[in-house]
Amino acid sequence: MKLRSIGVRLTFWYMGLLAATLIILGASAYALLTYSLQREVDGALESVANALADRYVEGIELSRSDSIDQLFRQFFGFVPLDPYYEMLDPVERRPLLSNRSRRLPLSDTAWTNASRGIATFETVNQTERYPTRILTRPVIVNSRVVNLVQVGMSLERTYRTSKSFLLILTTMLPVGLALAGVGGWLLARRSLRPVQAMTQAARRISAFRLSERLKESGTGDELDQLARTLNETLERLDASFNQMRQFSADASHELQTPLTVLKGEIEVALRSHRKASEYRTTLESALEEINRMAKLVDGLLFLARADSGVLKIDRQSIVIQDLVHDVQAELAKIAAEGNVKLNCENTEPVRIVGDPVLLRQLIQNLVHNGLKYTPEGGHVDVETALDGKRAVLTVSDTGEGIAPEEQDKIFQRFYRSARAKSQSGGSAGLGLSIVESIVKAHNGKIEVTSKIGSGTTFKVSLPTPH
Ligand code: ADP
Repeated sequence: MKLRSIGVRLTFWYMGLLAATLIILGASAYALLTYSLQREVDGALESVANALADRYVEGIELSRSDSIDQLFRQFFGFVPLDPYYEMLDPVERRPLLSNRSRRLPLSDTAWTNASRGIATFETVNQTERYPTRILTRPVIVNSRVVNLVQVGMSLERTYRTSKSFLLILTTMLPVGLALAGVGGWLLARRSLRPVQAMTQAARRISAFRLSERLKESGTGDELDQLARTLNETLERLDASFNQMRQFSADASHELQTPLTVLKGEIEVALRSHRKASEYRTTLESALEEINRMAKLVDGLLFLARADSGVLKIDRQSIVIQDLVHDVQAELAKIAAEGNVKLNCENTEPVRIVGDPVLLRQLIQNLVHNGLKYTPEGGHVDVETALDGKRAVLTVSDTGEGIAPEEQDKIFQRFYRSARAKSQSGGSAGLGLSIVESIVKAHNGKIEVTSKIGSGTTFKVSLPTPH
């Protein structure tokens, strides 16, 4: 039994609370019992004293010692231990009549009260083991105290009853607590058993076994909800681990290809003595591969920074139209080479707050793709407009289009259509992932609509400062 376990702690808490409740309940019951016993005794004493006073006033003689027993039986239901009565002279405090030889004290308080017509209850500790309860009551005739009646009885029976009750209470309390503690511990253990099973199952799941899931009971209780939440977390972890593995595999593959080409070309060049022009061709080809690798590494670095949230965004107030014109100038040569018209006339001067370098890269990637995937004679149109509070940039082309099943994959890293892969010198498939990261960093949205054979439209919407 581990002291730090929830089961043990719960049991201790439960026992503590139960003990406090039982003690409060027991103490209240004990107080109530003592109080009602006292009330019962006082009530009986009062009735007997009244009856004695009435008899005195009516002149009925009180000489027989058993008459007090009869009176107590009448008002109490039984004869108490050691009942007694006494008639006293109110002036001289002298007993006139008593059923006992031994006198009980008449306290000053009782005497003073009686002379004022007030009855007094007192508990007197005599030589006996148990105290005696006494009622001193004046007998008043014609507004004058003519006599004092004292009635008393031993409190032995009352004290014994209270004591037995206390004894039962103090023996039952620990027994009850111990039983409740064992029961509570068994209950806590039983209800926490699924947690143990879950802990063991979770321990088995490592980075290499993320496809395993915890068992869900389907009851919908707290533990079932916990299992479901953990399974959802595992699901996400599994997906991102797979994505990471795929990403590393793709990145290594993409770097390996140009390296192999580079190695092969250099090895061939070195095999025999070559002319200077041949070395030059080899070096030019090597530079091309190196440029490809550098571009790939740049892209990977950019995405890694975006993923880890360390991408620095230099926010400035800019007009997107200006960036579109920059890109137009940069890509004019490529457009002319491919015989594709690049239209940037439909642009409104919309002002946004963003990083000019990143946004220029975004426009460049989209326009470059448009030019790349549009056959000769086609056109790529770039538009900027204000739509409510958002700036909208649209890049549409009259190219080959993207199949519906490919449209949600094109933003994945390294994803390229089969045709794009077959094209020599094609890029690595990071262009649209970078576009998506830039859009996200600017709290924007990107949508694609495309039809095979007729063209593709990318629509980027970005928030404006107003
Ligand atoms: P890349 O262009 O380097 O291959 P991207 O991430 O920019 O990589 O694009 C991913 C894929 O999306 C491309 O291989 C291509 O199949 C498709 N694609 C992107 N833009 C267009 C477009 N304008 N028209 C047709 N297909 C496109």
